[in-house]
Amino acid sequence: MIQDGQLLNYINGQWQPSRAVEFLDVRNPATAEPIVRVPLTPHAEVDAAVQAATTACAGWRRTPPPERIQYLFQLKNLLERHFDEIARLTTQECGKTLAEAQGELRRGIENVEVAAGIPSLMQGYNVEDIARGMDEHMFRQPVGVVAAITPFNFPAMIPFWFLPYALACGNCFVLKPSEKVPVTMSRVFELIDTLGLPPGVISLVNGGKETVDALLDHPAVRAVSFVGSSPVAKYIYSRAAANGKRAQCQGGAKNPVIVLPDADMELTTRIIADSSFGCAGQRCLASSVAITVGAARAAFHPQITQAAATRRVGYGLDPDVEMGPVISPESLARIELLIGQGERAGARVLVDGRQARIPGYEHGYFVRPTILEGVDPAGELARTEIFGPVLSLMHAETIDEAIRLVNTGTYGNMACLFTSSGAAARQFRYEVRAGNIGINVGVAAPLAFFPFSGWKDSFFGDLHAQVLVNVKVYTEKKVVVERWPSEWSRKF
Ligand code: NAD
Repeated sequence: MIQDGQLLNYINGQWQPSRAVEFLDVRNPATAEPIVRVPLTPHAEVDAAVQAATTACAGWRRTPPPERIQYLFQLKNLLERHFDEIARLTTQECGKTLAEAQGELRRGIENVEVAAGIPSLMQGYNVEDIARGMDEHMFRQPVGVVAAITPFNFPAMIPFWFLPYALACGNCFVLKPSEKVPVTMSRVFELIDTLGLPPGVISLVNGGKETVDALLDHPAVRAVSFVGSSPVAKYIYSRAAANGKRAQCQGGAKNPVIVLPDADMELTTRIIADSSFGCAGQRCLASSVAITVGAARAAFHPQITQAAATRRVGYGLDPDVEMGPVISPESLARIELLIGQGERAGARVLVDGRQARIPGYEHGYFVRPTILEGVDPAGELARTEIFGPVLSLMHAETIDEAIRLVNTGTYGNMACLFTSSGAAARQFRYEVRAGNIGINVGVAAPLAFFPFSGWKDSFFGDLHAQVLVNVKVYTEKKVVVERWPSEWSRKF
């Protein structure tokens, strides 16, 4: 909720202005116009949210799962009813096209739908007669107060990787969305406010590092879910673990794709262009390195170059726009700097998206699709997550060499192969070290009923986001061993 140009927090079932001393401007990245001011919520207000959650936990965990999920059915209906309105807010604060914003909200809603199956998903197991007159059971019980900290690039989807599962499992949930894009969740929480949930079951605190640290250090917060860049993921994982909390921390990426000579080159080009330049490359599943094998180079390079040079860039709410701006002037400057560094290190810029000027949006943070060739596999450009619409081209003579290049990366979020050979596809999916694999798919995003995997520096923790694994994060296992000798009942 917005009051006097300032975003409020949602604590204990109430919208509350923050007493923060510091606020940040949230701007529309296509126009640079300010949208709202977001508070960097201090420790005391985080403490109030966690206290309210702690108080609410006692009653919420006793609410039977079939009753808890009724709130999720209502939430799904509200999200559907306000679908376009929420997606437009996402485009306005995040910059992606309206179609992309609608797509991410759809994936968020899918998680609400899957979490509505919690009465089945959180079932335990038991064994009768582990000894004479003795049985053993495993029950799943809620963990307590749990928190999620989310990134800027999917303001509508990523909070839903956690929120519905946490609630349905009987936990009380505190969300800290990205301070760069806090408006989408503020609107979603206005809808949540109408559900009639008990106060404190779900809270929203805006802010940055200090707000996050207050959650990480709060003794009543039992589990932390994080999605964002790898350095911050590692920091949050360490600090949460040092404080004895469960932590699932999804990090950054540098995703390679391999193109074999037998791939359908037209389809492959279209898919890779969408993967690399969709969401302006600000996607943890964006392809950022394309490795051609053998004769694929001669066919693929001219086509992908053409696709990059002709992509329609502009404001995401304008019809026909295929790619929006990046999130901030700092991000724009960093992307252009990295392209320049790659160029100085010997890469050739085949399509140069720097210094983009979009008529009507001269103040926006735009960088057009960029393609570099001859990128040194060991160099900075090949190893650093750029998080912009930049695709580096590399070449290998064999599929084995290409897979070796894929596996030298420090990240392991996604790897994709383009081919019409089943045997090559099998080798690829068997040998590459990454958590989300695409075969003739450019954004290998698992649906809500699969875990959002990620290996190496793309993930810190044991259990990834979405579905069953989240049920494990958000429940404690309790094992009960019972002795009821049959002669005790025979006396009646
Ligand atoms: P970020 O790491 O800068 O911020 C993520 C969250 O952490 C925000 O809520 C922010 O307020 C908080 N934060 C930032 N710095 C912090 C600090 N020093 N201490 C405590 N909290 C801090 O990430 P971003 O720029 O918002 O998002 C982009 C990143 O997220 C990219 O690296 C992208 O690959 C990654 N990402 C990963 C996945 C995945 O599933 N693996 C999904 C989406 C995005």
